[in-house]
Amino acid sequence: MKRTKISDLFDPGMTGHEVDVKGWVRTRRGNKHVQFVALNDGSTIKNIQIVFDMNTFTDEQLKPVTTGSSIHVTGKLVESMGKGQTCEIQADTLEIYGTADPETYPLQKKGHTLEFLREKAHLRPRTNTFGAVLRVRSALAFAIHKFFQEKGFYYLNTPLITASDCEGAGAMFQVTTLPLNDLPKTEEGSVDYSRDFFGKPTALTVSGQLEGELGATALGAIYTFGPTFRAENSNTPRHLSEFWMIEPEMAFYDISDNMDLAEEFVKYCIRYALDNCRDDIDFLAQMYDPELVSRLEFVLHNDFVRLTYTEGVEILEKSGKKFEFPVSWGTDLQSEHERYLVEEHFKKPVILTDYPREIKAFYMKQNDDGRTVRAMDVLFPHIGEIIGGSEREENYDKLMKRIDELGIPMKDMWWYLDTRRFGTVPHSGFGLGFERLVLFVTGMTNIRDVIPFPRTPGNAEF
Ligand code: ATP
Ligand code: MN
Repeated sequence: MKRTKISDLFDPGMTGHEVDVKGWVRTRRGNKHVQFVALNDGSTIKNIQIVFDMNTFTDEQLKPVTTGSSIHVTGKLVESMGKGQTCEIQADTLEIYGTADPETYPLQKKGHTLEFLREKAHLRPRTNTFGAVLRVRSALAFAIHKFFQEKGFYYLNTPLITASDCEGAGAMFQVTTLPLNDLPKTEEGSVDYSRDFFGKPTALTVSGQLEGELGATALGAIYTFGPTFRAENSNTPRHLSEFWMIEPEMAFYDISDNMDLAEEFVKYCIRYALDNCRDDIDFLAQMYDPELVSRLEFVLHNDFVRLTYTEGVEILEKSGKKFEFPVSWGTDLQSEHERYLVEEHFKKPVILTDYPREIKAFYMKQNDDGRTVRAMDVLFPHIGEIIGGSEREENYDKLMKRIDELGIPMKDMWWYLDTRRFGTVPHSGFGLGFERLVLFVTGMTNIRDVIPFPRTPGNAEF
């Protein structure tokens, strides 16, 4: 008989059939006449109940069937009399694949804290919570590709190892094959990188944008979707050292086209998750966050408010609210400021534009006022910044001037500047932090709980 996934058993046409299921035991209970096993195979948040008639099975046979063990059962799928499930399997055969010693299996009991489960990251996908989160994460990844592919964007793979250190987005992880305890030195006494693997210093990328611009100015519209690495020592519930980013980049888009795309894009992803992961989202809502579904619907049904950074700062200054970090024109907004605008002032997602040029990257298009750039940050309830983007400076001279002012080493940038030297066009793009989107959609509160194996300062165990 062919194996059926548990997710397919709940199809009404299945009742009355002989089925073959395989999975991991969540619980076993019962008495000497009948034993009930809740089985999960990862295909759905739902368990299937398996009923063992103890006239047919022996105690000895059932003994290894403990929480965490893996089994194979065949039997008849019937409507269930019991509460809480629509159908169950009357077991005919039982095969044990692997036992899980109750004395040592770490997930023996229910109701572990998320902190405890972070220490058990190798096993936590077997819990209801992480099963749900990881299924939602997978669906969102698919939705992202679907959205861009349907719009005619091309998926561009940008390098993870890079020699340009000019993004300014954060500290980088160096990549080297030089022996750290016996570094080759030049005559002047500095490290001789000509002897390194690539013949120059290299690091893991903080963003695929610069290469993305090369793609956009050839293919018209591209998106990247890959890991990025930031060696900042920021231990917050919203920062990872290794996270996934989606970076669309579009020729002939100005900042309002860019905002329209960002809004349509995140709404599409949220809609997709609600339509395709409803059981998982309902489970997470019930466990952690009763407001979850209404918050998702709320984002879907509201136009995002668009205003300038300058207007935003005025609102914050007039709010009379005591912030941990004081706010004034020219300061970078903290998540408390962003959340105030979204959650308390507008009660809608917000897109802030035209930030002071001093706090934004060199490549953003300069406004005529000489002090702001055409940046846009999308701010969400619970999260703060979920997207950062801009229209790009396409004018070679203006871009060069900014590069000089900031002292960015030109020799690393020649290939990027060629986009402005040969057939330059107005263009725009943005970066969405994938885990911030997953945080929002799942209602989880710590970014370490929405990626299978989180990398944070001091933590790379699993
Ligand atoms: P923040 O101000 O929140 O630290 P940022 O302005 O440094 O973020 P960008 O360089 O604009 O971030 O990156 C684009 C997007 O990537 C952000 O809007 C956010 O969603 C996500 N992101 C940035 N840094 C991290 C991180 N360390 N961990 C997870 N996601 C991140
Ligand atoms: Mn940003």
